[in-house]
This record gives sequence, structure tokens and C-alpha cells, in this order.
Amino acid sequence: MPGVTSTPELISPDRPDRPDRPDRRALLRAALAGGAVLGAGAALPAAPAVAAGRGAGRPDTPAAALRALRHGNHRWSTRHQTHPHEADGDRLLAVSGQHPFAVVLGCIDSRVPPELVFDQGLGDLMTVRSAGCVLDEAVLGSIAYGVLELDIPLVMVLGHQSCGAVTAAVHAAETGEELPAHISYVAEQIRPAIDHTQTGPARVDATITANVRLVRSRLAAEPDLAARTATGRLAVVGARYELATQQVLLVT
Ligand SMILES: [Zn+2]
Repeated sequence: MPGVTSTPELISPDRPDRPDRPDRRALLRAALAGGAVLGAGAALPAAPAVAAGRGAGRPDTPAAALRALRHGNHRWSTRHQTHPHEADGDRLLAVSGQHPFAVVLGCIDSRVPPELVFDQGLGDLMTVRSAGCVLDEAVLGSIAYGVLELDIPLVMVLGHQSCGAVTAAVHAAETGEELPAHISYVAEQIRPAIDHTQTGPARVDATITANVRLVRSRLAAEPDLAARTATGRLAVVGARYELATQQVLLVT
């Protein structure tokens, strides 16, 4: 498959040590992450120690995060899932905060749930899902929150084989058929990615890959994210999930 590789490589050098963060950010992060539960504090475990214990073990570089996703997808596609971070202890740790190691921007398709296809558990992934991985302000804000406030080192745009949103966008462009209001927004966002060098099912498939590239490039151009990728603290990558093999392949 052109433009797609089955041998994901480490795509960015390990980032340098994290600088100290301003108190404002720490407070905002704690509040939004659910670490400050008003009125229930007495029932919670010792939050700082517990949070540090889980956070200390997470992949904290782009390369390590991508490696963890690759290994998890290998477990999934070979039926060797470990279903990590679902036990009682993990649920208790989750009360005091979250330390996800990757943002996955995926499609809404019910056959591609990121936690399953990467064999990850509670608190591992921040998932944002929209039809066709289409961006809007809410999606951008969600991704920015994960990267800037939770210090997540990897953003993956995850398209997939037989994407209905892409199929609809290609069909609408070819036929001129008018789609219902909010669905037409999705189609319009995908339209620039349509691969006119192909026809029929091949056009849809090529457009799925092209749409991943388009969304990835738009994300990578966001100034806040670009500043992090420039220093190696963040990588923004694209990938495709193949329904037939259950494998995730990087889109180059
Ligand atoms: Zn889809």
C-alpha cells in the first residue's frame, strides 16, 4: 500500500527533560484532571503519592509512546491482549489523576475503538473521536489540552479501512448529492483530501490515507504543537487501522 509502512519506526528523538511548570498550570491540570474532588477528599487515597506512582511509569517521550502503541496493537492483532490497567488498583489510582501517554484522534467508527486496538487500559490514552477524524475547534481544543496541560508526548491521527465518512464525502463530491446539514460539514472537511487520480473503491481507499495526512499536517501546523515538535517533546503522526488484519500501519 503506497505511503503506508508496516514497520513503524521511532519518529522523533527523545525529548529533553521537562522544564518546571508554572503553578497556574499545575492547578489547572489538577482541577481538570479530576484530582480535586470537592467534598470527597477524606475518602480518597493519598493523591500526590499515588499519582506519582502511576505517572512515573508511563512512556514520556514520543518514541516510547509510539513503541507502546505498536506493542499494544501487536498484542491485539495476534490475539495476545493483556487488558492492562483495569484492575481494582488501577481504578483506585484513577481517582487521583490521569497520566495518559498518547492522544489518539480517531474516527467514530464502532469497529476502531483506540483502547481495544492498542490494548490499553484506564488512563492510558486520551481519545478524541470525530467522523473521519475531522478537526473543528472542539477537537483542536481537546487535543491541545492533552498536549499542553497533560504533557502528552504523542498525537496519532488514526484513520481506518472502509471509513464511512470518507466514503460519504467522496460520493457527495462525485454526485453532487446534498448531505444533511452537519454531515455536510464533515464531508466538506474531507473533500480537499479526495484523490482524483483514482476511481471507485481505490479512490475511497486512497482518500482515507490522504485524509490522515491532511489532518496530521493541519495539526502539526498548530503553533502550540509545532513549538513542541521543534524541540522533540512531541510527535504528531498519522496511521491507518486495517479492519482485515487488525493492524495499525503508520502513514508516512
Ligand atoms: Zn471512519
